Amino acid sequence: MTIIHNLGFPRIGVQRELKKALEQYWRGQINAQELEAVGFGLRKKHWQQQADAGVSLLPVGDFSWYDQILEWSTLIGAVPARFAQDAQQETGLDTLFRMARGRAPTGEPTAACEMTKWFDTNYHYIVPELEAGQTFRIARSSLFDQVDEALAAGHQVKPVIPGLLSYLWLSKGEDFNNGASDERKLALIPALLEVYEKVLTRLQEQGVEWVQIDEPILTLELPQAWKDAFKLVYAKLVQQKLRILLATYFESLDDNLALAGHLPVDGLHVDLVRGNDDLQAIADILQPGQVLSAGIVSGRDIWRTDLDAAAVRLQPLKEKLGENLWLAPSCSLLHVPVDLASEKKLDDELKSWLSFARQKLEELNALAAVLDKRQTPAIEAFLARQHQALENRKTSRRIHNPAVQQQLAQSVSISRDRTPFNERMKKQRAALGLPLFPTTTIGSFPQTADIRALRRDWKQGGLSDVKYEAAIKEEIAKVVAFQEEVGLDVLVHGEPERNDMVEYFGELLAGYAFTENGWVQSYGSRCVKPPLIYGDVARVMPMTVEWTAYAQSLTNKPMKGMLTGPVTLLQWSFVRDDQPREQTCRQLALVLREEILDLEKAGIHIIQIDEPAFREGLPLRKCKWQAYLAWAVDAFRLSVSGVRDATQIHTHMCYSEFNDIIEAIAAMDADVITIETSRSNMELLLAFEQFHYPNEIGPGVYDIHSPNIPDTDWMIQLMQKASEKIDRARLWVNPDCGLKTRDWPETRAALEKMVEAAKVLRLQ
Ligand code: GLN
Ligand code: ZN
Repeated sequence: MTIIHNLGFPRIGVQRELKKALEQYWRGQINAQELEAVGFGLRKKHWQQQADAGVSLLPVGDFSWYDQILEWSTLIGAVPARFAQDAQQETGLDTLFRMARGRAPTGEPTAACEMTKWFDTNYHYIVPELEAGQTFRIARSSLFDQVDEALAAGHQVKPVIPGLLSYLWLSKGEDFNNGASDERKLALIPALLEVYEKVLTRLQEQGVEWVQIDEPILTLELPQAWKDAFKLVYAKLVQQKLRILLATYFESLDDNLALAGHLPVDGLHVDLVRGNDDLQAIADILQPGQVLSAGIVSGRDIWRTDLDAAAVRLQPLKEKLGENLWLAPSCSLLHVPVDLASEKKLDDELKSWLSFARQKLEELNALAAVLDKRQTPAIEAFLARQHQALENRKTSRRIHNPAVQQQLAQSVSISRDRTPFNERMKKQRAALGLPLFPTTTIGSFPQTADIRALRRDWKQGGLSDVKYEAAIKEEIAKVVAFQEEVGLDVLVHGEPERNDMVEYFGELLAGYAFTENGWVQSYGSRCVKPPLIYGDVARVMPMTVEWTAYAQSLTNKPMKGMLTGPVTLLQWSFVRDDQPREQTCRQLALVLREEILDLEKAGIHIIQIDEPAFREGLPLRKCKWQAYLAWAVDAFRLSVSGVRDATQIHTHMCYSEFNDIIEAIAAMDADVITIETSRSNMELLLAFEQFHYPNEIGPGVYDIHSPNIPDTDWMIQLMQKASEKIDRARLWVNPDCGLKTRDWPETRAALEKMVEAAKVLRLQ
């Protein structure tokens, strides 16, 4: 029988039980024992659900209190000195929480470790902080305890641990200049090997047969030194009696295929959804007796798999490998919601196209039955239903909208060019009459509990449309009056009607759907519920025009319209898999184009298109960057190129580095780009300076993540630094990002100082 295994299960719980327990614990409402009990309950339930779905090697170690990489750091004793660890003691739960978030119910508050995105997912891991000469030891027993727990529950387990080299690659430290290929980093290998060997020995003593070691960096372009390190490390690790399944995911192995295939491990997992390595080549490279784990069901999206096609694809491998072909999701199911059955509001047709974590395992089960030629009536029925659903999806009128298709076809001939910047800039300056160092904000203003309650009441039907509209307008009027009082030059309406910059638009567009419980962990206890783009996207009605025009009617200063850009709308949703992403992105661009033209018609002369997710859309492999950037830039240009010369287009990007994408940023040709720079001390502007970036820039002068009120002189200094790099006539003054998480008193104090800073700068 074909073995089905799983690389990891979502740990957060279908009702976000883990999130709730964690937050209660942090607030002191439950104690550590009660928290442990919630974790225990979730693990037990999730193992059982997987076992029931036919998974035979259950992942252990995929559960974590905050993040699996942090869990590993604490296990191997990679706890930075500032967390004041007793070198002999077991690392406690609160130390782990202090590393993640700077504070915990016990222990001194300390600066947290850095957090960053896990490859090209929306999951964030805690970056390991290592130093030259670091030593490691087994400092936490949670993994081993969980193995015992699963064994005691009668399961066959497969511990999952981060690969030594991926862990090292992702780590940072002052000793390493952040360069991944740093020799000093590789010099830590012997010490790491020692602790890995200890962990493996201990697992083996517990009765474990297989361990999954995750080395996702094998799907990246690796420097030779790292490739060599793979050979060395795995030659050492296989001296253990344990069987090692080396797991790679998120991309093809490509030029690392031979490297991965020749490592002396007992099995290799490859991602057959996002990767497109030649299956024959993989099969050929395997050594006799080696297992190939086929990641055939996507762990990154929520669509049902075409099982007919999957069976056809895998059949030759099954014949060749027999029992040594295993089936699995493409990667850990951490990146998808738990259970479609908990969705009560989605209609049956839409649901028939979807598959969450538990359903993905059912799909694997059915596929294994097909490959084994042991279909039961139940499996036959399952396959027939799935086949029918996918056939229906191919032709459904809900998905395929001829009007959108036609528009898309015609969009080829729409010019993406605007009049050259220097010419339109003159017209904009004449029309807008702004001072030097114009001041503005990024869009949102404090979202108080009152505003959130207002939206909730209206959504739940407790507040009429008329009353809701009046209340939102009242808030807009307040925000506009506030900005006039503070003396800002370009105003915004404040976004009180938006709970989220993607969801707001999705809810108003055709082709989008929303789940009730489709939660996916983003970091720690924080989860997101990405919208689903399932069909052709079309605008049903204007989305922002009424609010923005109302805001403009209250002031003589220019009102900046506020939209979320096509790439960000795409990036922060589950995107349909039946057409290329770039096509969906272009549909979004066309929708925005209509909205932008309507805003212009309504008398809005400045429009900002937020693209905070522009950079995170970059493919993992550099050789694919050009193609992505080409369509991402094209989508932006398509959405804005219809406006008059005098209409000023802004874009905004936060948490981005620009060095390697500055050409694309320039090609977007926004009149003004606002970026997050205050924390980097304007360093991010260097890329713009070196490229001789021609358009206007608003480098953020204060960090909106912090409640601290920025100092006027500090902001002046930052802007002076900026003017050394960028011509002062092209500089704007604004915060790093939107203000929705701040409160009103902070916002007032900070913006007053910012305006004051701009006034001083103008006189210099
Ligand atoms: N306009 C949005 C806001 O101000 C931008 C948010 C973002 O860049 N993440 O909230
Ligand atoms: Zn931002």
